[in-house]
Amino acid sequence: MSEAKTVAIIGAGPVGLAAAAHILERGMKPVVLESGPESAYSVRQWQHVQLFSPWEYNVDKAAERLLAPTGWNSPDPHVYPTGAELLERYLDPLASRTPLKDVIRTSSRVTAVSRLGFDKAKTRGREKAPFEVHYQNGKGPETLRADAVIDASGTWHSPNPAGANGLPAIGERDVQSRITYAMPDVLGRDRERFAGKTVAVLGAGHSAIGTLTDLTTLARQAPGTEVVWLLRGNDPAKAFGGGANDKLVARGELGAHFASLVASGLVRVEAGFSVSHVTSTGDRLRVASGSACCGRHVFIDELIVATGFRPDLSFLSEVRLRLDPAIEAPVALAPLIDPNEHSCGTVRPHGARELAQDDRGLYLAGIKSYGRAPTFLMITGYEQVRSIAADIAGDREAAERVELELPETGVCTRGGVEGGAAASGCCGGPAPAEANACCVQDAGAKAVGKTGCGCS
Ligand SMILES: Cc1cc2nc3c(=O)[nH]c(=O)nc-3n(C[C@H](O)[C@H](O)[C@H](O)COP(=O)(O)OP(=O)(O)OC[C@H]3O[C@@H](n4cnc5c(N)ncnc54)[C@H](O)[C@@H]3O)c2cc1C
Repeated sequence: MSEAKTVAIIGAGPVGLAAAAHILERGMKPVVLESGPESAYSVRQWQHVQLFSPWEYNVDKAAERLLAPTGWNSPDPHVYPTGAELLERYLDPLASRTPLKDVIRTSSRVTAVSRLGFDKAKTRGREKAPFEVHYQNGKGPETLRADAVIDASGTWHSPNPAGANGLPAIGERDVQSRITYAMPDVLGRDRERFAGKTVAVLGAGHSAIGTLTDLTTLARQAPGTEVVWLLRGNDPAKAFGGGANDKLVARGELGAHFASLVASGLVRVEAGFSVSHVTSTGDRLRVASGSACCGRHVFIDELIVATGFRPDLSFLSEVRLRLDPAIEAPVALAPLIDPNEHSCGTVRPHGARELAQDDRGLYLAGIKSYGRAPTFLMITGYEQVRSIAADIAGDREAAERVELELPETGVCTRGGVEGGAAASGCCGGPAPAEANACCVQDAGAKAVGKTGCGCS
């Protein structure tokens, strides 16, 4: 009998842990390398946030099978957990009470991936060479040899900067002490930082809206707190989402509630604001749109940049990747999630075939596989790694099979959440001419007797 394959999994987030469960179930050896001191380290950073997907979409099936013999009580499928509850009720027991506890190496940051004896340019015999994964832990540099690599290292640690051109705004790096990225806990851990201040949030996605909503609560509790919303697009309503059409009800409600906060004047809206310069002027920050000196600007105390994330590809520079040049997602996946075309949370389930890279045995998975696209759902990631584990095990039939039905969502805005120019269609592109529908997904939904995908 040949020896079981070793599979290196980068990142012990929800998808990395699920990958390990599937690899283990197929009789292979997973080794999970996690940069943080604990598993699911990124989720720990946003644990104050309430998820918009209920439990039924947050638990992986192979993980559930590992948890079952430990006496685990599966949570009510219709309840929406917070990030903290996701950790406490699912991810922590999975990482500490199942056989996964023996395969996770925490405080182990992957710094490079290559193939033994092969630099990126060398081809002949390449496929037979094992992967070499370099990582850094408390003791120093370490190397792991593996037959396959699943990169599920997420995007949390590489947030997008404030500049509308994708670069840090001029001066942004010099005023880092007054800028926070992503989703600070403005009502809890980080309250003191923001209470009584003028705080601007840049962005129009769910993270921005969640933070703005929490800041309005802080403004009611802490006198002097003022909330400014900076968004690049001209139409704030695009950020309100699908409302009642969103099948992820909590997400629809968040958008609808935020719309009412904006209407009541609790949030000062600066639409069409493209941050170009951030400078310190005495004890305030001056954030400018367009021109440093004389253009439009706001004076604030704190800036929260919630403009999404991008994948860190630096440690993959010595392996062969095939990524879409714009979205930085695998080329076969990018057209399904391109925010220029559609912003639906609903994406056709996909797996090994779309995620495999040119270096055979290397896969991107989880939110990192979506590159710069903002619509990833954990349940999509669980289906990805089920298929990838089957592919590595040589079970092509299971790798190709689709075992997931994704929730429909009504958040299908033309041109994406923050898209400028009108796109040719939203979910999956324009509908066929003969169909009475607004887009491919709408046509598909109507074809199976549903009322539509909800985006019109
Ligand atoms: C605020 C917020 C709310 C969200 N809400 C939902 C929701 O309601 N429903 C939903 O389905 N999805 C939601 N998502 C999206 C997504 O499902 C989650 O981000 C999910 O955590 C992605 O899982 P992941 O395992 O792919 O990545 P992550 O959870 O980011 O895990 C990646 C792990 O890799 C580690 N890592 C990073 N770099 C390295 C390295 N070089 N070496 C080793 N380890 C590394 C990180 O420390 C981290 O633990 C939300 C995301 C955010 C940010």
